[in-house]
Amino acid sequence: MTDTPKSHGRLSISASLQPRDLMDTRPRLKGAWTARIITLFPEAFPGVLGLSLTGRALDLGLWALETVDLRPFGEGRHRNVDDNPAGGGAGMVLRPDVMGAALDQAALGTPADRSRWPVVYLSPRGAPFCQAMAQRFAQAEGITLICGRFEGLDERVIEEYAVEEVSLGDFVLTGGEIAAQALIDATVRLIPRVLGNQASTEEESFSEGLLEHPQYTRPAVWKGRAIPDILLSGHHAKIAAWRKAEAERLTKERRPDLWRAYCASRGRDPDGDREL
Ligand code: SAH
Repeated sequence: MTDTPKSHGRLSISASLQPRDLMDTRPRLKGAWTARIITLFPEAFPGVLGLSLTGRALDLGLWALETVDLRPFGEGRHRNVDDNPAGGGAGMVLRPDVMGAALDQAALGTPADRSRWPVVYLSPRGAPFCQAMAQRFAQAEGITLICGRFEGLDERVIEEYAVEEVSLGDFVLTGGEIAAQALIDATVRLIPRVLGNQASTEEESFSEGLLEHPQYTRPAVWKGRAIPDILLSGHHAKIAAWRKAEAERLTKERRPDLWRAYCASRGRDPDGDREL
């Protein structure tokens, strides 16, 4: 009844020979991390993921993106995917039978073990997305993402398919597509060779439980504001110590929650003023 998942990028055979597809010479790298996305709006992908480093990595086959259009799984002549909420109220709810059929198709060729291939519903009720989660997803073979619309998904399909709910934050979007792209972006950049400079993921915000230190570049003085002398001193140990102290200061000021966790993991008093 439906097609196999549609691939984006230059890497798989496509029915429509756009110039981009005609340039398709490289096969997808074997075992490349794959995001499979169930959505009513496949045209939203790859979106920003097709640009810059994630786009280049997609073209190189370092990761792959496939969309599963929910619409063809819909019921009747109009391919309805939603219905009124049981118990009444505003809005519409995505039907479990329709989403179940899409999930069955998305599962083809993927391991059933959720640790090897998580199945995630982007949802404001989910566990807050974080760097540790991105690390976990990057270590899997791929991921299936469900983008909700309207009032969201029938609860039974979440239970039946052992779907994990993940939230982008405490706000409500109209659909899961933007959230899915954010999740994929944060995950894909942790895959080896996607970023040119792997060291940059080791030093940046959250990698050590701290926010990143301030960054500067030329000109040395701009609108009367100078780059801190220490950064121009060439003294690597002092620069590292300054950055660490700044990272700690910013984390303490802006994110008391992260600061407490950081101190606890190091047996340090979060209220102590240890000079660095
Ligand atoms: N009625 C739901 C919100 C539905 S918003 C509720 O109150 O919880 C429609 C869709 O947008 C959701 O199904 C979900 O896929 C997506 N979405 C909205 N906010 C989100 C968030 N903070 N994180 C991830 N996905 C979100």
